[in-house]
Amino acid sequence: MAEYTADIRDIKFVLFEQLDLGPVLSSERYSDFSPEDLEMILDEAYKLAREVMAPANVPGDREGCQHSDGKVTVPKAYHEPFKQYSAGGWIGLSNSAEYGGGGAPQLMRLAVDDLFFGANISLNLGMLLTPGAAHLIEAFGSQEQKDLFCERMYTGQWGGTMCLTEPQAGSDVGAAKTKARKDGDGYLIEGEKIFITFGDHDLTENIIHLVLARVEGAPSGTKGLSLFIVPKIRVNPDGSLGEPNDVVCSSIEHKMGIHGSPTCTMTFGSNGDCRGWLVGEENKGMRAMFQMMNEARMGVGMQGAALANASYQAALAYAKERTQGSHIMRFKDPNAPRVPITEHPDVRMMLLRQKAYAEGCRSLLLFAGFCHDRAATATDEKDGERYRALEDFLTPICKAYCTDMGFRVTEWGIQIHGGYGYLQDYPVEQHMRDSKIASLYEGTNGIQALDLVGRKMPQKNGQCLRAISGMIKAFLAEHRDHPVFKSQVAELAKARETWSNVNRAMAAAASKRDLMMPLLGATTYLALCGDLLLAYFLLDQAVKAWAKLERLCRESGGTVGDDEEEALFADSETLANFARTTEEGRFLDGKIKTARFFIANELPNMYAKAASVTNADKSAMEIVWETE
Ligand SMILES: Cc1cc2nc3c(=O)[nH]c(=O)nc-3n(C[C@H](O)[C@H](O)[C@H](O)COP(=O)(O)OP(=O)(O)OC[C@H]3O[C@@H](n4cnc5c(N)ncnc54)[C@H](O)[C@@H]3O)c2cc1C
Repeated sequence: MAEYTADIRDIKFVLFEQLDLGPVLSSERYSDFSPEDLEMILDEAYKLAREVMAPANVPGDREGCQHSDGKVTVPKAYHEPFKQYSAGGWIGLSNSAEYGGGGAPQLMRLAVDDLFFGANISLNLGMLLTPGAAHLIEAFGSQEQKDLFCERMYTGQWGGTMCLTEPQAGSDVGAAKTKARKDGDGYLIEGEKIFITFGDHDLTENIIHLVLARVEGAPSGTKGLSLFIVPKIRVNPDGSLGEPNDVVCSSIEHKMGIHGSPTCTMTFGSNGDCRGWLVGEENKGMRAMFQMMNEARMGVGMQGAALANASYQAALAYAKERTQGSHIMRFKDPNAPRVPITEHPDVRMMLLRQKAYAEGCRSLLLFAGFCHDRAATATDEKDGERYRALEDFLTPICKAYCTDMGFRVTEWGIQIHGGYGYLQDYPVEQHMRDSKIASLYEGTNGIQALDLVGRKMPQKNGQCLRAISGMIKAFLAEHRDHPVFKSQVAELAKARETWSNVNRAMAAAASKRDLMMPLLGATTYLALCGDLLLAYFLLDQAVKAWAKLERLCRESGGTVGDDEEEALFADSETLANFARTTEEGRFLDGKIKTARFFIANELPNMYAKAASVTNADKSAMEIVWETE
């Protein structure tokens, strides 16, 4: 089985060469961090991912989790990596130092999760929800709750979960029936939650569940849901552990992938003695839970991108080694030497398609994390609002597009391996099995699309749309006459115009109360936005890569003439030679080729999607199924 490798150079390129971290790192909040510190964090994370987490990945998949006598055990191979992960301060990396967190920018959470999810998604899932749960307590809980729980969770002493789903309340969270009854200074909780990730396990001494429940007499729907802290083991005022809290895992699921992540049915209060503590006010639980859901959505989007990148790395390594057939130009010659499959045009197309989506999604996600940090540190109110609007619009796209395309990239990873990809001897089949869940949980991708068209598009009279449009327009204005990428910039301009037309068509339909048009087109619209954004981010990378390539070439003594003819990358032998013969040159040249490839081969899919949305066909609503 191949070792886990990540393109750490690409992550660094996005962080330090594509994004301008200056304003974030010079803010008061993050002034303790320099770019060198961030690079060191990334290198350490890669070491942990590669040397400690990845070796536990396959054993965890094969052994899975066990449930016996109401207790859950995770794969044996997970215990040591978990210890090192918590001891290294990775759980609370981007949480407040006041409560034992690392205080790093949110962007770094995403960047290290790229490595951790890529190395071992199931194990990292055990760490994903804990900081989110603690952060929710920090944002909405009482001082006493913060003091009791946050530090113990940020440091990994206690785990955390989010408990929303019930058998009748999946996407429809407001249908939850779990009850809460006031009792002394707390509440008695009674009900069943299903599909709870790491709902029970043997990695931490306690597990703090954040449970949505309805207080007796509260309104129906999400407006009547309150949020409760429900520990597995009760916690004394001094933080020591007390009695068990009548919280039991009654079963675990048997799943397609993420075998090392226990998916638990949790029964609260079957003996009438499960105590919960209200977070914030009664009936305001959903508002608080949204904070955790939004954080988790970015993390889930990163699961898609991380497994896509892992699959691409594995497929590329395999394709370089695997020889099959002869070169296409000598296919009639039986004596022609056998060539690595990387020589075959179709395999090259698949590899480059993998690279484009995997790296494009990474760039999109890290940019969204950057927007979060810019909004949190902005000194100018308008600036802060603009970055918040960008983050709001990008969140459902990051979650849904990166997991849908991430899954597809893992499928291409199998295709590149041929029949061997279907076997457990190679990592790509596990990548695909593990990746599918990301389009389902944390709000299915269909629900993300509804969030995009129903909430984010009309938000503050189109503020999000204006922010995205402004960002792309500024790029177009700056690079309209770019010596190398003029035609790609023109293609991006055309794509932006098409996107604007679709936005107008959807708004017009909605204003005429034709809600079916945007609802039927929502998923296609989200994918269309993803295509446009990937073209933008990949082209932005290419422009930056080309500028650097040219500079490095000059610095190394190469002559690049000032006249346009010679400056053109394709016509400059010196540049082409530099790009071929140095590692950095190949990396930067790869960025240029990837953007060109995406814009020529993948961006056109966007026009079919635009037609699909604006055609406003209603057949799906009109069909009468044969069985009706
Ligand atoms: C492995 C795993 C781990 C999970 N971890 C957690 C966890 O830690 N905590 C937790 O609370 N939950 C968790 N979940 C639950 C998960 O979030 C839900 O499965 C998900 O929200 C979908 O709910 P559902 O399965 O009931 O599907 P349904 O809601 O029944 O959806 C079925 C289909 O209908 C669509 N649909 C439903 N309603 C609408 C609508 N209004 N408009 C358009 N389309 C709609 C959906 O998009 C989907 O395609 C987990 C699930 C799994 C499988």
